[in-house]
Amino acid sequence: MKILTTVKEVREYVKEARMQGKTVGLVPTMGYLHEGHGSLVKKSVEECDVTVVSIFVNPTQFAPNEDFDAYPRDLEHDVKLLTECGADVVFHPEASEMYFPDATTTIVPDVLSKNLCGKSRPIHFGGVCTVVGKLFNIVTPDKAFFGQKDAQQLAIIKRMVRDLNFGVEIVGCPIIREEDGLAKSSRNTYLNPDERQAALCLSQSVKLGKEMAQAGEKNTKVILDAMIAHIEKEPLAKIDYVQSVDAITMQDVEEITGETLFAMAVYIGKTRLIDNFIV
Ligand code: AMP
Repeated sequence: MKILTTVKEVREYVKEARMQGKTVGLVPTMGYLHEGHGSLVKKSVEECDVTVVSIFVNPTQFAPNEDFDAYPRDLEHDVKLLTECGADVVFHPEASEMYFPDATTTIVPDVLSKNLCGKSRPIHFGGVCTVVGKLFNIVTPDKAFFGQKDAQQLAIIKRMVRDLNFGVEIVGCPIIREEDGLAKSSRNTYLNPDERQAALCLSQSVKLGKEMAQAGEKNTKVILDAMIAHIEKEPLAKIDYVQSVDAITMQDVEEITGETLFAMAVYIGKTRLIDNFIV
């Protein structure tokens, strides 16, 4: 597996692969990889001849009060995991390689980014779209792989690709969980043992809501109230949001008629965790 740090090196690698008639898959990540990331990489390895994984803690998607500096980083561990998963290239640029100091052009997603996480993280999805758009232009992948764990991100990226005619197919991949149900996340590492236990209220409420929907409950308020009541039983948990939205438009829905996303962000202590399910 090659570790590349410059845009030029990646372009040359991809050009060479293309000359050999190979297809290219991209898995964008912020590193500190776990099996959730690994599942995306394995899917790309299955579906594409060459897999490029980017590891870049993107400063522009963090607000000043967020955890950019504290975000966990461990390249050695990541390289080991990616080698085992069969990735071909790690693209690990410095911020100065990705951003010109006088850059003035960004991608700003509109209405899809105003709800859910976008409400409490107003600059987040602009940063995500800009960096993912740049990665698409640098790597020119045939397919790019994103986790359903970040459901709003996946919806926004799909819309960006459609709206701006990026020539890439977006593949959504299921949420990978710990054995006890907690969705795997690089941020789980922030949790102390009590918080780790408390964090189970997210996946438990996902399970509860899913069961209610599968049993035929169509009124989303009934489902959300039950999910919220479950989370509120946990003293270490503080809800940012628990909402039901149309899975494509990210607009609130009160009745399950089409594909509906139930999504939540919950603080466990100082750590903000997310989880979701779609019915
Ligand atoms: P991140 O490094 O957190 O930016 O995540 C990189 C990619 O991995 C995103 O597409 C995430 O949705 C995906 N991902 C993160 N955690 C999981 C998980 N537990 N299951 C599936 N995909 C995940």
